[in-house]
Amino acid sequence: MSQHSDPAADLLPARMLNEFVYCPRLFYYEHVEGVFLHSADTRRGAEEHKRVDAGKGGLPKAKKTAAAAEPTSISSAADRAGETDAPGAPDAVTSGNAEGAPSESAAADSAAPTPPLDAEIIHARSVMLGSERLGVVAKLDLVEVTLGATATCATDASAPSEAGPRSPRSAASVCPVEYKAGAPREGDDGRDLWDTDRMQLGLQILLLRENGYACEEGVVFYRQTRQRVRFVLTLEDEAWIRRSIAAARACATGAIPAPLDHSPKCVRCSLAPVCLPDETHFLQHADDELPPPEAQLGLPGLTHDLLPGDDAQAALLADGFATDDPAWLALPEPRLPRSAGDGEVRRLMAPDTDTKVLYVNTPGVMITKKGETVVVKEKGDTLSEVRMKDLHHLAIFGPAQISTALIQTLCEHEVPVSYFSLGGWFYGLTRGHGLTNVFTRIRQFARAAEPEQALPLARLFVYGKIRNQRTLLMRNHVEAPAPALRALKHAASAALVAPAQATLLGIEGAAALVYFRHFSGMIKAAEDPDEIPGLEEPTAIAPAQKEFNFDFKTRNRRPPRDPVNALLSLAYSLLARDCTVAALAVGFDPYIGLYHQPRFGRPSLALDVMEEFRPLVADSAVLTAINNRMLTPADFVQAGEAVNLTMAGRKRFFLAYEKRMSDTITHPLFDYKVSYRRAIELQFRLLARTLTGEIDRYLPFLTR
Ligand code: SF4
Repeated sequence: MSQHSDPAADLLPARMLNEFVYCPRLFYYEHVEGVFLHSADTRRGAEEHKRVDAGKGGLPKAKKTAAAAEPTSISSAADRAGETDAPGAPDAVTSGNAEGAPSESAAADSAAPTPPLDAEIIHARSVMLGSERLGVVAKLDLVEVTLGATATCATDASAPSEAGPRSPRSAASVCPVEYKAGAPREGDDGRDLWDTDRMQLGLQILLLRENGYACEEGVVFYRQTRQRVRFVLTLEDEAWIRRSIAAARACATGAIPAPLDHSPKCVRCSLAPVCLPDETHFLQHADDELPPPEAQLGLPGLTHDLLPGDDAQAALLADGFATDDPAWLALPEPRLPRSAGDGEVRRLMAPDTDTKVLYVNTPGVMITKKGETVVVKEKGDTLSEVRMKDLHHLAIFGPAQISTALIQTLCEHEVPVSYFSLGGWFYGLTRGHGLTNVFTRIRQFARAAEPEQALPLARLFVYGKIRNQRTLLMRNHVEAPAPALRALKHAASAALVAPAQATLLGIEGAAALVYFRHFSGMIKAAEDPDEIPGLEEPTAIAPAQKEFNFDFKTRNRRPPRDPVNALLSLAYSLLARDCTVAALAVGFDPYIGLYHQPRFGRPSLALDVMEEFRPLVADSAVLTAINNRMLTPADFVQAGEAVNLTMAGRKRFFLAYEKRMSDTITHPLFDYKVSYRRAIELQFRLLARTLTGEIDRYLPFLTR
């Protein structure tokens, strides 16, 4: 949607029209929402354009003609270049019959038809041209200008144009040459242009004409096959281009177009991980069914009066959830969509990122950059070096110095920096601007401002958390007590029909009480099977546990007062950080929540979605670190009541946490493999789709 008042600023970049021809939704993402992601193809294309873009744009001044004299063309680099010497000087002048070496450059630069012997050829690179009448602006890779020729571009200069009478032949006849990384299309008559290239070159020809140059054809040079394909603009092409410009303008002011339906184009599209074409189709046709809120009527103990933080009431409710009251049996079970099955939803993204997190855990170090490498030094000694391209996050614990040059580079590379206290409290984040998806934030704010609109989503966050807590207990508890599993099941069902946010908080608190009462049953520090905790009493402590002091009875924090709580606090901090980064990457404001209420410095929306992943990522990483003996008693220190990890202990826990985030799982809805890191990002993207109305309902991430 255009926000500009300057008509010149409203010109559509020709590259965006390429995208529109490829896929209107891709155009919308890039042009309207400002979303762009690099793929291998786009990186290769950008790299290969560097040489072209390094050149100077300089076309000889066009002869003014009737068409060009009208106020249709904007001030262009070409015009300016023609009027001055130095900046706009042509960067290459060759004679028409020069015998160039068969280099790629020569092959491409001599792309136009062979000029007559008396012709002089100028190559102008990176030429900017615009036209208000067309409503388009473009940067042309290369324009081959033939001076003093009686015939240059090989087609009929007097052919009619939809824009009106064609300009008479000017002194210079020009031929745009476009560089492409790939290969030409196999057409019926041999090599042919792709539609996107046809659009791009056609626009360049029209722009050159609008600016007073005689231009009949252009050339695309395909680097992969080192082949040139000529393109002569027909009236039919011109009409198609003008129709496409009008359609793209209309698209930009409307709603986002639907994704393509299982198109092969999506496989090569750099925005597939953002667009989620198959996932969106799947969820648009999903047959999920959740119980209506009225279903809560008559459920035992579920009232409007539940107060968050009232432990006595939560305990009563927790016990109430464990009953066999028939009212619970009458509550319909939620039905979520079946998994997609083979081939229905393609995984169009890598299962996980191939970059890593750099944790800086030593107080007082200096973090700087050396070229494209991040360097961590302590008193002049290098502790670690990581290449910028191998990094997706930098996490700093405690006091450290970081150079502004490094921060600037990290912002440019879109690598966030998170800051934690030595005790593991996540208190800040630095990242580049990257504020795209403005429409997502508008919908987020609107939904958050209306509690009754936010409640259905809040119910699902809490439902997902409790269901996953129950699953973790079933999977890992030495003998999961049936009343606890029953209570968690009822609590999850109650969350789905909670009549108010306060009720939901009470249900969540009651479920947490049940879950953490039995958490110690998942800790398998005992070597002797007879000493396995949890068999008799949930709080029974085996000697080995005592030694490790993992005698976890209940969740405590600020400060954590035992090693397990210290680990849980750190794990939740790391997960909150990762959810904040994911929320920002999707375009949300992480501080405006739909369940968690705003509070200074609290990333409420990140905490909302994090609920589903607490048991699966954070609790699970803690259990792995303890049960696999990754930590020993020596990894903890006690100061007063507070227990914390040593530097060495924290380092070991980072490994356990990152390993869990990288673990690949089968996505419960889409049936493909993804890491937890990717699954979290997916949840935020699905939440955004729900808020913008593209899919009807947000579905929580439930492990099987
Ligand atoms: S993934 Fe497919 S539908 Fe989505 S923008 Fe790309 S080409 Fe279009």
